[in-house]
Amino acid sequence: MAPTLQSGSYILAGLLFILALAGLSKHETSKRGNVLGCVGMAVALIITVLTTLIGYRSGGVILGGLPAWGVAAVLLPMAAGAVIGILRALKVEMTGMPELIALFHSFVGLAAVLVGWVSFMEGGLDKLHAGELFVGVFIGAVTFTGSIIAFMKLSARMKSAPLALPHHNLINLAALVAFVALTVVFVLKHQGAVGWIMLAAVTIIALALGLHLVAAIGGGDMPVVVSMLNSYSGWAAAAAGFTLNNDLLIITGALVGSSGAYLSYIMCKAMNRSFISVIMGGFGSDGAVVGEAKDYGEHREITAPEVAELLKHASSVIITPGYGMAVAQAQTAVAELTTKLHREHGVKVRFGIHPVAGRLPGHMNVLLAEAKVPYDIVLEMDEINDDFSDTDVVLVIGANDTVNPAALDDPHSPIAGMPVLHVWEAGQVIIFKRSMATGYAGVQNPLFFKENSAMLFGDAKQRVEDIIRAL
Ligand code: NDP
Repeated sequence: MAPTLQSGSYILAGLLFILALAGLSKHETSKRGNVLGCVGMAVALIITVLTTLIGYRSGGVILGGLPAWGVAAVLLPMAAGAVIGILRALKVEMTGMPELIALFHSFVGLAAVLVGWVSFMEGGLDKLHAGELFVGVFIGAVTFTGSIIAFMKLSARMKSAPLALPHHNLINLAALVAFVALTVVFVLKHQGAVGWIMLAAVTIIALALGLHLVAAIGGGDMPVVVSMLNSYSGWAAAAAGFTLNNDLLIITGALVGSSGAYLSYIMCKAMNRSFISVIMGGFGSDGAVVGEAKDYGEHREITAPEVAELLKHASSVIITPGYGMAVAQAQTAVAELTTKLHREHGVKVRFGIHPVAGRLPGHMNVLLAEAKVPYDIVLEMDEINDDFSDTDVVLVIGANDTVNPAALDDPHSPIAGMPVLHVWEAGQVIIFKRSMATGYAGVQNPLFFKENSAMLFGDAKQRVEDIIRAL
């Protein structure tokens, strides 16, 4: 295979990845973005595998190439991985997505560690490559164990409460200092036994740091942690790219690393929290109540037929979904309600989506798209927030923190300053949830006690279906 064909294909794959990211940033173009990403990955894999199997042709001589057993050693694990990946992807529920992603990141981390070790065994490293290799192994090992803990917490295989060892910040700092010192020694002297000892030491320290770093963060903050690990896995892949002299791996790793970091930033900004406060753990730790218990008075209850009556006579309705809609898998029923209200009763129905509604950015958009809700009635928080005052009825379906007025009115609330949907400005607000329990941030919601609010208790899907029947 000519090296130019390889470089050309890598540039093409890199471009396809950039176009994929651009496509994924809007729901109208997200499917196309996904397809472009898949095509880019297919090009990258096919070209990389072919150049490894056949080798380069240079001046009529074939360089490299693998013997038959080598070919089998590449293709068999790839086939097994593809089958497992497809089976998992077909089975996973939307609510299980963050934990699946966490598991995938652990593989990227492990791959980066293995690439580093194998390159070290091959020898012939100069100082620059030794440094890259060492950093790659460190980031990879942190990502590996950190992602496994994130996976276990998200899938309830491990308690989600934060592990609070005494002086835990000091432990993390000591690990980082040790990493820097070991890196300096490794770069200066990586031949022979010293190299082996340094590499083994950094791997052990990084594995332990990954475990400790994520174990110290509460289960509620895991989505931000997963996005942060996503970023780490990208940097680990980029470091492996330097070690392997593979430009495409460097480009892809940098894209994943920077987009993961940016996603973590967007999530933290939409939650009005600093990245550091998430890393340090605390808020969202175990569903525990963080704010002080206050008496907000009595709440009012409403039944599904009464809500149906309200909706029939409304001219405009906004639905603000949240995590509870995902738990109840109510999106199809909600889509049916929307169509019925619009077609049979002439009601203008729109959706207001908070940037961190649910448990991962875009969570609600994906569910609504899956239920075939037209994109043009699904609006972002900033696009719809001024319209609540002209709206007759708002249906808050399984949302809590994202519609909490305390974020604006109460400077002592743990979510003070978080931008929220101004649902209380509408004529009537109906809140679908199963109890008066708090949401993710563990704070009570004064919205539930407002005069124009009414609670519709029960599973969101069942209640929406009850309303459809009553209509
Ligand atoms: P919340 O987590 O605040 O509240 C969800 C509500 O849904 C709960 O109060 C719960 O009440 C209700 N619920 C659960 N199951 C059902 C069901 N089957 N039927 C009806 N209701 C149900 O959700 P929001 O979407 O409003 O807010 C998201 C929170 O997650 C924010 O605090 C955000 O900061 C945080 N977060 C979001 C991330 C993201 O990227 N989207 C990332 C990290 C954190 P009950 O138990 O009474 O039914």
